[in-house]
Amino acid sequence: VDHSHHEKAKSALSHAQRLPNQLFIDGKWVDALSRKTMPVVDPRTEEVVVEVAEGDAADVDRAVEAARRAFDSGPWPRMTAKERGRLLYRLADAMEAHVDELAQLETLDNGKPLFYSRYVDVPFAVDHLRYYAGWADKIHGKTIPVDGPYMAYTFHEPLGVVGQIIPWNFPILMAAWKLGPALAAGNTVVLKPAEQTPMTALKVAQLAKEVGLPDGVLNVVTGYGPTAGNRVASHPGIDKTAFTGSTEVGRLVAKAAAEQLKPCTLELGGKSPIIVCADVDVDKAVADAHMALFFNHGQCCAAGSRVYVHEAVYDEFVRKSTEAAATRKVGDPFSSVEQGPQVDDDQFKKILSYIDSGKRQGARLMTGGGRRGDRGFYVEPTVFADVKDDMKIAREEIFGPVQSIMKWKNLDDVIARANNSNYGLAAGVFSNNVNTVNTLTRALKSGTVWVNCYNLYDNAVPFGGYKESGIGREKGEYALSNYTQVKAVYQPLADAAW
Ligand code: NAD
Repeated sequence: VDHSHHEKAKSALSHAQRLPNQLFIDGKWVDALSRKTMPVVDPRTEEVVVEVAEGDAADVDRAVEAARRAFDSGPWPRMTAKERGRLLYRLADAMEAHVDELAQLETLDNGKPLFYSRYVDVPFAVDHLRYYAGWADKIHGKTIPVDGPYMAYTFHEPLGVVGQIIPWNFPILMAAWKLGPALAAGNTVVLKPAEQTPMTALKVAQLAKEVGLPDGVLNVVTGYGPTAGNRVASHPGIDKTAFTGSTEVGRLVAKAAAEQLKPCTLELGGKSPIIVCADVDVDKAVADAHMALFFNHGQCCAAGSRVYVHEAVYDEFVRKSTEAAATRKVGDPFSSVEQGPQVDDDQFKKILSYIDSGKRQGARLMTGGGRRGDRGFYVEPTVFADVKDDMKIAREEIFGPVQSIMKWKNLDDVIARANNSNYGLAAGVFSNNVNTVNTLTRALKSGTVWVNCYNLYDNAVPFGGYKESGIGREKGEYALSNYTQVKAVYQPLADAAW
């Protein structure tokens, strides 16, 4: 019996109670102007852990003013690119020094196993900031040969005040994906964390202040989507918005940006296909497809939620996938398990209703199919076989631990089926035939294709969606263009130079 997990949960709770629970605006901790607060719920117990400030439109307005001042004057615009990079390194170092605290807060807030918070989410966030810290002094324009006695060159300038809205599934990592390129390029930020998981963003803000990020460069306004989030999306003083979350809300954010003709990048939902060919090592494909779907309780935008398996290996694949799901360890995320509770009651109910629809529409339930226990948002790892492409569970994003397996015979056919979705975030290909692999990597309409692997997320490799899965790319050099604009300069050349 793992007694230490109670200690860790207690420690998480005491970190939560000591966390600054106000809004972080202009380098200061302030209450919401309305004085309202909102609850943070422990998904293990469904009980309120702490309250944080419930910011709304008026608080976003204050944050935008502070971010504007910080962009126009004060130390930030006068800092050299190298100094900006050094501050980001210092923030990453501070986060690393607080890795246990951040990981415990993340697990308490989100319900993901502490092992993952501690060894994936927080270290990846640290690493991501370091990656962009390194870019800060490597963002530069070009010198361009032009006709006549002139020279031309470009500056890559920051956009200004950036509004960033993030989801609850990878709270600190999504914050890092957003903050890294924005700050490295010299912008200032108003960040709106998801209402379900505000804690690690508040801790990051506290650390940013400690390492000396100038006031107003990073502002964190906790609050709900339709109020605080909506104001970030529609504030005329924000120069660019970046959003990660559902396609439904992404459409609203894009509309608000379109009205003001400002740039907007979106990372949205997915229904990512995995194609398993007949020539594979079935055990390896089963293990990777299992991780592709069940990692983070299925709460991944890139979850491999449509598994197309060649008929020659179908029965074996279904049997082994069922075993893998049935033996997945579910329980208190502070103990050594692979799966904790889903993030909140809304998601929990939504997932259970998708499971019901799978049963009603005639998919073959192999394992799972209900809630686990009677307290907390725990869902049984669930596998459906013989899923048909037109079933709801094959078309819509479930965002939970529900794997759907389908059968295929003909390659052209399965390509068409895989691409027959409004989404296009990611795809997996399992084959040892190089020609099949080359055909599939080109034919699949998705922002990422993983071949004989899944869920790799290197900082340097771009990530984003085709179709309704998004606009723009995060990560890597590509993401810098989301946060810079190009100024072209022409200058005459004297006769001697020309
Ligand atoms: P959501 O869209 O409801 O919420 C995301 C964020 O948007 C939250 O901060 C929320 O407060 C805010 N928001 C809600 N309504 C708003 C509004 N009217 N105006 C402005 N902001 C508003 O999504 P969710 O349910 O929290 O997250 C799950 C979804 O996110 C899934 O569909 C998943 O696929 C997607 N997601 C995508 C990626 C990606 O990189 N593509 C990553 C993680 C999650």
